[in-house]
Amino acid sequence: MNKSKDLYNFIMAYPASEEFALSSLGYMWLYKIADSLEGIETKRISADSLNIDKREIDSLAFSLSFDFDFMGVFKILEKLSIPFYSEQRGEEFPLIFAGGPVITTNPRPYEKIFDFMMIGDGEVGIKEVLEILKNEKDRNAALEKLSKIEGIYIPNKTVKKRTEALNSVIYTPIVSDKSYFKNTFIIEVARGCMNRCAFCTASYINLPFRNYEYDKVIEAIEFGLTKTNKIALLGAQISAHPRFNDIMQYIRNKIESGTKIELGISSLRTDSVTPEMVQTLVLGGQKNSTIAIEAASERLRKFINKNLKEEQILNAVKISRENGLKGLKIYSMIGIPTETDEDIQEFIRLAKRIKAENKGFNTAFSFSTFVPKPQTPFQWASREETKSLEKKQKYLEKELSKLGISSKFSSAKWDYWQTVLSRGGAELTELMEYVYKNGGKLSAYKSGVKELNIKTEKAIAGYGYDEDLPWDIIENYPPKDLLVKEYKRLESKI
Ligand code: SF4
Repeated sequence: MNKSKDLYNFIMAYPASEEFALSSLGYMWLYKIADSLEGIETKRISADSLNIDKREIDSLAFSLSFDFDFMGVFKILEKLSIPFYSEQRGEEFPLIFAGGPVITTNPRPYEKIFDFMMIGDGEVGIKEVLEILKNEKDRNAALEKLSKIEGIYIPNKTVKKRTEALNSVIYTPIVSDKSYFKNTFIIEVARGCMNRCAFCTASYINLPFRNYEYDKVIEAIEFGLTKTNKIALLGAQISAHPRFNDIMQYIRNKIESGTKIELGISSLRTDSVTPEMVQTLVLGGQKNSTIAIEAASERLRKFINKNLKEEQILNAVKISRENGLKGLKIYSMIGIPTETDEDIQEFIRLAKRIKAENKGFNTAFSFSTFVPKPQTPFQWASREETKSLEKKQKYLEKELSKLGISSKFSSAKWDYWQTVLSRGGAELTELMEYVYKNGGKLSAYKSGVKELNIKTEKAIAGYGYDEDLPWDIIENYPPKDLLVKEYKRLESKI
């Protein structure tokens, strides 16, 4: 099947548009690694740019970042005339595999599609995988060898999540104006988050928190500046980097001594916003930023392990305003387990306080609804009914608008299906296929579960501590018993 002379043809597929592919740091970095390997030719394709012939593919890998990415996976497979189900693909088809946060969180809904999956960090694993694939032409023998690699999940076996030490800094290998983040050099500063909010996969699937050495981050910034003046620092909790302030100071010194830098930081950690940090962002051209408070009441923030005091929130807004930002988006959730009407009222009270103490400063709220996720202490929790969540959304929108504060809400209906997809098992593949073939709208999900008689109640109602969970096949840290302990510890705090 090798068409490019003797090179092994490896294709990395991104199940969304090219602009998002170019801005996905993990995907682009693995592409860089694969592309540097001896004897391997690596090409990138995405859902809207499929300039490839099926005959040119020796193996095909997907990166899944969002629960609805299966739509792009099917679109690409269909365009390439490759059957969706692995059991329908014989020797004449390439091996197809996947990785990324969605797969690491729960690979079970995808096990009938992919021949194998990568659980956890992929930067070292991808080299080992390609070494086997390049040399072992027999499909079953290749799968047998792959199953011995740490982090490789072959359906019906268990797998240990792979975690790497962070050495060389990861950055966008291609700076492009076609990227969602135009001409931006993105640098990973830290991976994971030590805060361990009880709902947060960004923290739990990336434990332990790791960061790159200061010198290496600075080297990456300097390298990035040889390509563009737009630098973005990435990480779920970058300000937890032990030398984050020094990194910011370094950038500030450069700007003040005449280097033009546009600096981007996805969100500020509410309890560690400092005047210097905001000033550096403003010097770097940032006008607005985001803080995540997750819940308005201190009671709920304790329960989810956010442990953020109201004064810290007000302080973050004040510092942002006093040091030159024009506005701040405050991100939060509704529908967190145990949430009461009083907790919802707390949003209004907090918003009033923020407004009164920061006249003329533009604050906006952004809400998503709680989606219980595998691998977190809230993996057993139930999800609130859609109608009740929508009622809360309407109420908040109305009351916040009376205060002159704009608000945005995720769709409670789509979040419902996100819960189903992320907390289900292998039975969901048929539903995903049905949804894809019927246009991908909400109505397709509803008719799909009816027609296929798929039970989604469990994924919504939640699981008991002693029940088997679809994703129990992953050996993770912290293990299940520690997640139960953590849930109970948090419960005892409220
Ligand atoms: S602080 Fe943010 S990234 Fe960290 S655990 Fe909490 S929600 Fe996740």
